Amino acid sequence: MTKRALVCYCVDVDGCAIWINTQDGSKANASNISRGIFGANVGLERLLKFFGQHDVKATFFTKNGLHGYTHERASLLTEDQQRKVMAKSIEVYKDFTGKHPRGWAAPYWDVSPVSMQIMEDFGIEYDHSLMHHDCQPYYASDVGESVVHTDYSEDPDTWMVPMKQHRVTKVVKIPANWDVDDWPPLNPAPGRAGSHGFVNPRDVQQVWEDQFSYLYEEYDTFVYCISIHPQVSGKSKVMPMHQRFMEFLKKHDGVEFVPAEFVCDEFKAGRISGATFQMGV
Ligand SMILES: [Zn+2]
Repeated sequence: MTKRALVCYCVDVDGCAIWINTQDGSKANASNISRGIFGANVGLERLLKFFGQHDVKATFFTKNGLHGYTHERASLLTEDQQRKVMAKSIEVYKDFTGKHPRGWAAPYWDVSPVSMQIMEDFGIEYDHSLMHHDCQPYYASDVGESVVHTDYSEDPDTWMVPMKQHRVTKVVKIPANWDVDDWPPLNPAPGRAGSHGFVNPRDVQQVWEDQFSYLYEEYDTFVYCISIHPQVSGKSKVMPMHQRFMEFLKKHDGVEFVPAEFVCDEFKAGRISGATFQMGV
C-alpha cells in the first residue's frame, strides 16, 4: 500500500513571553528577553526562508494566537483564569488575522482537567498538546473529574480507586511528542528544569530520523509532528540539522508537508482513521 506520511512543522513562537513569565515570580532577565527577540526576528526569518525553499506549509502557534499569553501553565490557573486567557488570546488573534483561530497548543503542553471543555466552548477545533498517541490523530478526552489524586495525607482507601472513563470531546488531537521537540536538547536555560540544551544536533537528528523510520515501517498513514521554536531552531547550530533532516524526509515516497489544520480536516472527513483509546472504567 502507498505510504502517506503527513509531516507537520508546528512552530511555537514563544518570543519574549516565555522569559517574561519566569514561572517563579522572579523578575524577567534582560539577557533571556534578548533570546526571545532573536527568535521573533532572526530565528523566524531563517525558518520562513527554510520553509519557503522546501515548500512547507507550517503551523505557527503565536503569542498573539493560541499558545497562551505569557506562556502560562494551564494546570496552575483556575478555570476562570483559563477562560479569561483564552478569550483575550482569541480577541488578539482575530484583531491580527481577521479570523477565528482553529487550534491551540498549551504552553509547556501543560493542560488542566477542564482545558478540553474550554476549547469546545470557545469553538477551537484542534489541540496540539497531549500524547495518547505519537503518530495518529484522535478525539481528545477530557480528564475532568475522572481521576482521584493521590493524597498522602489521606487514608489510601480514599484514593485507591480506578480511573473513571474519560469523556471524549469534539476537539481533534494533533499528537505532541517531547522527543521531536527542539527546546529541551538544544536550548540551554540554566536553572530551568528540563532544558539541557547542549546535545549535539547530529544526535538529535538521529533520534528524529529513527522515530520517523520506525513509523514509516509500521504505519501506512501517520502524522509526524515536529515542534520547534524560532529562538531554538533558528540558531546557526540547529538550522543545518533541519536542512539535513529535510533531505532525509524527502528520500521517502508519500511525504506531505502539511499544517496541523489539514490533519484535523483529513481526520474529521475520515481520510485518516486515527486512533481510539480505552481510558478508565
Ligand atoms: Zn511555547
